[in-house]
Amino acid sequence: MNIEVSERLKQLPPYLFIEIDKARRAALAEGRDVINLGVGDPDQRTHQPIIDAMKKALDEGANHHYPFDAGVPQLRVEIAQWFKRRFQVDLDPSTEIHPLIGSKEGLAHFPLAVINPGDKVLLTDPAYPAYQAAVTFAGGKIQYLPLKASQGFLPRIQDIEEAKNPRAIIVCYPNNPVAAVANKQFYTDLVRVCTQKNIIIISDLAYSEVYYDGVKPPSILEVPGARDIAIEFHSFSKTYFMTGWRLGWACGNSQLVAALARVKSNMDSGVFNAIQYAGIAALRMDPAEIEDMRAVYQERRDAMINGCRAIGWKIDPPQAAFYVWARVPAKFPDSMTCAKAFLDQADIVLTPGVGFGRQGEGYVRMALTVPVERIHEAVGRMAKVLA
Ligand SMILES: *Cc1c(COP(=O)(O)O)cnc(C)c1O
Repeated sequence: MNIEVSERLKQLPPYLFIEIDKARRAALAEGRDVINLGVGDPDQRTHQPIIDAMKKALDEGANHHYPFDAGVPQLRVEIAQWFKRRFQVDLDPSTEIHPLIGSKEGLAHFPLAVINPGDKVLLTDPAYPAYQAAVTFAGGKIQYLPLKASQGFLPRIQDIEEAKNPRAIIVCYPNNPVAAVANKQFYTDLVRVCTQKNIIIISDLAYSEVYYDGVKPPSILEVPGARDIAIEFHSFSKTYFMTGWRLGWACGNSQLVAALARVKSNMDSGVFNAIQYAGIAALRMDPAEIEDMRAVYQERRDAMINGCRAIGWKIDPPQAAFYVWARVPAKFPDSMTCAKAFLDQADIVLTPGVGFGRQGEGYVRMALTVPVERIHEAVGRMAKVLA
């Protein structure tokens, strides 16, 4: 039988990386020494106190059952305390915080809570591909806001002002893939225009703790009035090397949080309690450990940026997140050709920018998720490709 997939699946963009993926697998199968700068998944192991908390929680029979709707109450209390320390924002743990099976899960489900078929949603171009899928699954129509280097990779407030009847906007700063940050002034302007136009703000703060040079990215919830219209998504994945554990949270406007919770109660039955206890241990960790994480990425970032500069490839250093967003060197016509050449000639995997949207063309993304020695090795190989 020929299975017809749904219209919503057919509406998803074609998978652009098929050719690159094939070449990567072939390279690995041939036993070539591949340096993978393609994946946004930290290479480090989860911290031991988190693992220990999970082991302890596993032994408790009470944790073997369906989790509570809104999760282990103590986790929400810990999140509220963390939020207060980090952003000086008070959240009510009983109404303004909801745990997620990873923030991607919440981001994917949230449009189902507020978007009707045909509703317009503003997305940046480029963007994390999951947003587009989430909006499409909910039947929403997307209007793209281009992100340009000349504007610090922030959407123009004027473009939002002029958009016709958008229902929601999704922003992500620190950004994947472009690694830019938003300052509080941008969020203030965004809250102002979205309040005027009745636009729900969806903010993805997965990289809040991955920043450089001591400049902490703000939360949109720091802006007065944001709590009336915004929901923010947070993740344990990047901060605590917990990508495989699947834990995050949504917070902000209580009606938006409650609407998401209603969708979720019909889709999943919450986060495994033992993982929530692991999350509590993570939030209680010594901040020095998180400082170490930043130091590791900063060393890698500097090795990559300085190394590339030395071989004639000038790249603006990222301000946050563990990605380098680099203009395609002049010798290649586009990002796909560039990525293919690096793979074929240097066994280096990087991601063509066009995979994140049309405005991503002309760029490649490199993830700093390999040790600094491998970055030095990669730069040496790149020199030969660019020569
Ligand atoms: C990694 C990432 C996430 C986090 O996803 P989890 O589901 O929490 O692992 C969210 N948004 C962006 C942009 C990311 O890169």
